[in-house]
Amino acid sequence: MTPPRTAGPVDAEKSPAAILKPLDARAVTIEGGVWARAQAVNHDAALPHGHRMLEAAGNFENLRLAGGRSTGRYRGPVFMDSDVYKWLEAAACEIARAPSAWLESTSKEAIDLVAAAQGADGYINSYYTVAEPGKRWTDFAHGHELYCAGHLIQAAVAFRRATGDDRLLAIARRFADYLHSQFGPGRRVATPGHPEVEMALAELYRETGERRHLDLAAFFLEHRGRGWLGPGRYNSSVSFQDRVPIRESTTVEGHAVRALYLTTGVADLYLETGDRALYETLDRQWRDMVEGKLYLTGGVGARHLSEAFGHPYELPNDLAYCETCGAIASVMWSWRMLLATGESRFADLIERTLYNAVLAGVSLKGDRYFYVNPLASNGDVELLSRGGNRRKEWHLVACCPPNVMRLFAALGHYVATRDGAGLQIHQYGSARVTADLAAGSVALRMETAYPWDGRVRLTIEDAGAKAWTLGLRVPGWCAVASARLDGRAVGVLAAAGYLQIERAWKRGDVVELDLPMPARLTEAHPRIESTRGCVAIERGPLVYCLESADNPHGHVADLEIDATAPLESVWTPDRLEGVALVRGAGWVVDTRSWANRLYRPVGAPPAARGCVMLTAVPYYAWANREPGAMRVWIPRGAPGPA
Ligand SMILES: [Zn+2]
Repeated sequence: MTPPRTAGPVDAEKSPAAILKPLDARAVTIEGGVWARAQAVNHDAALPHGHRMLEAAGNFENLRLAGGRSTGRYRGPVFMDSDVYKWLEAAACEIARAPSAWLESTSKEAIDLVAAAQGADGYINSYYTVAEPGKRWTDFAHGHELYCAGHLIQAAVAFRRATGDDRLLAIARRFADYLHSQFGPGRRVATPGHPEVEMALAELYRETGERRHLDLAAFFLEHRGRGWLGPGRYNSSVSFQDRVPIRESTTVEGHAVRALYLTTGVADLYLETGDRALYETLDRQWRDMVEGKLYLTGGVGARHLSEAFGHPYELPNDLAYCETCGAIASVMWSWRMLLATGESRFADLIERTLYNAVLAGVSLKGDRYFYVNPLASNGDVELLSRGGNRRKEWHLVACCPPNVMRLFAALGHYVATRDGAGLQIHQYGSARVTADLAAGSVALRMETAYPWDGRVRLTIEDAGAKAWTLGLRVPGWCAVASARLDGRAVGVLAAAGYLQIERAWKRGDVVELDLPMPARLTEAHPRIESTRGCVAIERGPLVYCLESADNPHGHVADLEIDATAPLESVWTPDRLEGVALVRGAGWVVDTRSWANRLYRPVGAPPAARGCVMLTAVPYYAWANREPGAMRVWIPRGAPGPA
């Protein structure tokens, strides 16, 4: 008997505007490579670490205080509950993916705390229960009450889907009932300072079928952009995306995480309504981001001030903000855009962002986290901001660590989809994929050393009863993709960016996809100040960087690259859990002739330069060894004096 369908984080099965449908949550098993390692570390190290940190930082204790189970003072910022909910969402996905008695018992204890913290009217928020009783709904801009509610709803839906346990969902539905009693037409008008509840209510609608949840999401979305939230801390409603109504937005602006949680919520509303005006505004905003405000890593948010997007081309390297949560938000948004369109540009950005902006946010061991992900570091300890070159075990504002945990636990969700014609593979890696297609039940196994090697062998294990089309994404970085079956070239490259192979498949059919990935140099738009005269090394989906540990010939800031020399890739199993290094020729500039001066007249005797071999490692793996300097963008040198 076929077990009942179990949805992943976005259940667009019935969404009228989703032309691609996500697979069952158990349909994809990642079996090897970078993502299998990341999932194992997430399970074995990150989730236990997160549980300890939530206890140590006071998140669990705040819920005990709210539930009358303990006495003392509230600790931490107003949104502490949300980190518990994100951890619970990760735990739910992990319990389904890789069962664990410890995760089951600890998450049950955490749900007990949430249950006890719920008021008789359904409201839950430990800050406004313990620290500021009577001040509920008095600070929409900064209070994060609806943000916390959204994360509770998402965790509850995940628990129901992953385990069948609907205890947390019952709690979330009571809270949602309370929200309906407060907000909506004829009741209170509001929009939250930090979007999140919108996508959560859309998912609650998908889970329960109750239309009023989607209507409330739309209510919050449509009241945005009218300056209602006030000027904010930075004297601008831009920070809150409250300057322009969602239907008139042409840019991504303000706080990057809020901006992309908002567009994700709007994308959910589009998937459920098919309202083309919403899609068109989202497409404009997505292009505004990738054409002017996106780091090479996929990171977003150029400014520490207000954690915000900057102007187009304003993309400093050392002072990049690139909050890990911003990258996760970008993945959530692009996933919905991919479901809406089937276009590979969205899966391309998901790939770039996962490998370079999300994976960089967590240490290889899973117990240290970046909040800020700069593209260059001079190696000095950063005392004034959240940046720097050392990941921390936790943060006072700890939104990022449990956000990474829930994304990694659900990574299989983003690998493949289906439509009426067949199956689409969006992300490559060693994995087994199953799907119920119109043509019948199918299964295939991907075997590959991706992202180190672009050859992917896909073996059909269950062929289905009728012909169907296998769609294979051709990554934007790949110049010449090809696929062979029985030694013959197959596939037609469709406009959406997928190699389409339609046939009556047989068990044992093998498609050999080849996505050559020689190391390559990338240059940036000349208007980006911080990258002028520089190139970056990329290989396949990975962005590379120079780090002190591999380049002992001089300070990383003094290195230049010979952009005319060949690059060599070297598989190195014993470095950084196994990486392909990229080596190339360059120079180290002897800056001693500058003495202690910052500036000098043009025409001074040129600095000497020595030939060196540069060694680059994947950016995601930086800052896992002794502290040092790092840079992604490397000045392009030329023979002769500097
Ligand atoms: Zn964060």
